[in-house]
Amino acid sequence: MCGIVAYVGPKQAQPILLEGLKRLEYRGYDSAGVAVVGEVGLKSARSVGRVSVLEQNLADAGGLAGSLGIAHTRWATHGSPTEANAHPHTDDAGTIALVHNGIIENYATLRTFLEGKGHTFSSETDTEVLAQLIGELRRSGLSLEDAVKAALREVTGAYAIACIAQDEPDTLVVARKGSPLLVGLGPDCYIAASDAQAIISHTTQVIALDDYQVAKLTINGQGPDLRTTTIDDIPVSPVVQDLEMSLDQIELGDYSHYMQKEIMEQPMALTNALRGRLDQREGRVVLGGLANLARDLVRARRFILIGQGTAMHAGLVGEYLLEDLAKVPAEVEYASEFRYRNPIVDEGTVVVAISQSGETADTLAALTEAKDRGALAIGVVNAVGTTIARETDAGVYLHVGPEIGVASTKAFIGQVTVLTLISLLIGRRKYLAKDVVATYLAELEKMPGYIERVVNQTDYIRDETMKYIERENWLFLGRGYNYPVALEGALKLKEISYIHAEGMPAAEMKHGPIALIDEGMPVVFVAPRGSQYDKVVSNIEEVRARGGHIIAVADEDDHEIEQYADTVFRVPHVPEPLQPLITTIPLQLLAYHAAVARGHDVDKPRNLAKSVTVE
Ligand code: GLU
Repeated sequence: MCGIVAYVGPKQAQPILLEGLKRLEYRGYDSAGVAVVGEVGLKSARSVGRVSVLEQNLADAGGLAGSLGIAHTRWATHGSPTEANAHPHTDDAGTIALVHNGIIENYATLRTFLEGKGHTFSSETDTEVLAQLIGELRRSGLSLEDAVKAALREVTGAYAIACIAQDEPDTLVVARKGSPLLVGLGPDCYIAASDAQAIISHTTQVIALDDYQVAKLTINGQGPDLRTTTIDDIPVSPVVQDLEMSLDQIELGDYSHYMQKEIMEQPMALTNALRGRLDQREGRVVLGGLANLARDLVRARRFILIGQGTAMHAGLVGEYLLEDLAKVPAEVEYASEFRYRNPIVDEGTVVVAISQSGETADTLAALTEAKDRGALAIGVVNAVGTTIARETDAGVYLHVGPEIGVASTKAFIGQVTVLTLISLLIGRRKYLAKDVVATYLAELEKMPGYIERVVNQTDYIRDETMKYIERENWLFLGRGYNYPVALEGALKLKEISYIHAEGMPAAEMKHGPIALIDEGMPVVFVAPRGSQYDKVVSNIEEVRARGGHIIAVADEDDHEIEQYADTVFRVPHVPEPLQPLITTIPLQLLAYHAAVARGHDVDKPRNLAKSVTVE
């Protein structure tokens, strides 16, 4: 969840580390810190709050000089976000410093052991235990690299770490298990980070460490030296990859927030997600990543879609799509529930793991569980080369570009698009006629233009949203394909505006939640024309009769809805299975404008982190 950056090279480390931290801040941001080894030894600085606070404190104190350093933005798991708990952590002699992403599960036992050896702890974190253990092991003369490996052999849990020692001023040691870590190979430096975004301005050449791997990165008079081994000291040959990312994709440009940029640029994101995948003439979908598995997918007896948060909502759309278009039983489940409930899975089961970051801890664990039980595993992932993408048997990347805003927008559209394509691919091989699929593909082709028409209404959506932003309780309702959209709309609103919102099937309202409706309560109905339109209109009437204010998402040419709704957000009419791709867009804008109006930091909502790499 947090961000790690580490640098060794010829330049001053501190500015490079701070720039990297700013790019990683979206991952977790309750405190930050940096440690550098220079002529005056190992020095560190830590601050509660944003990276900008750390930067200011460093500037006030004259900064840290040296060309080897590590840095961290924290998303606390053990101990509150205080300066003492912020990383880097050191051993009590202050000879080594460590940053860590993840959780050391057996920290309590190790802490008791180390306290027995006379170590004094200065934080409540699990991480400090690892720093003290490495320090303790070095007392017997081990090198930093060997001490890190010996320490890691003792810990259970998840980690990405970067570690430096005062007496090894040209060596950086990094390792991972369960949390991501990339090593960037610069022309004259190494820069390691938990995310490509902190690396891309230095190099596009990276090595993605695998679990239990350790890299020793040295820059000295003899030039750069990289050594990768396992924690048991078995050498591994590193595989160098080229990052598919450009700097302008991760710069804010003229937008006020990344979330705004990501919403407004969805037409382009969708164009990229569809590129090369629609064969209109043959009425076929082309998904290179699944080419070798197409027969297994057609023969599959059941699909289970797993994810968390927005990805789970995309999975729910996938459930409807797979049953409707591919005529195969499908069910969606929270990965966190699936993994612990002894699920029934066999080789006729295909598990689809959905994750923007490709590092979601719960989804990864559920995927491993499903594979162990014989399922075929497919990944629907945005970030290329990440753990979930590598752990699945095959997969389809979203290709919507990096998503930085914590509240997911374009990744949801990308996930639903890919699930639509998978469903059409299977459906076409089973029951769907060529011209039926060709019609869907033609509509998908037009979808970026349709989305453009909706995002262009951003000012109107903002003005209408202003009428309701004082209200603290909202409902989002939809039926069929638009039920997951209602869930997603509610999630967006609560994530960034901190307004309490609930999404549910429109019919469910009568079974309890209708009791909440009072004069002026905003109730959002996702109500494009379709097979259940009339039913939705009846539900609207029920809410109106109790004084609720109706905000409807409706087709551009639906004038009937104006009789019932106080506010209408217009979307182009598309076939029902494609509706989530368009009806979600006004709800993203609604949430965005509500959060801005309430003065919240849209890209860094409180308590949240982008990539949830802990359980
Ligand atoms: N478990 C560590 C802590 O609470 C690391 C958390 C993180 O990944 O930021 O300090």
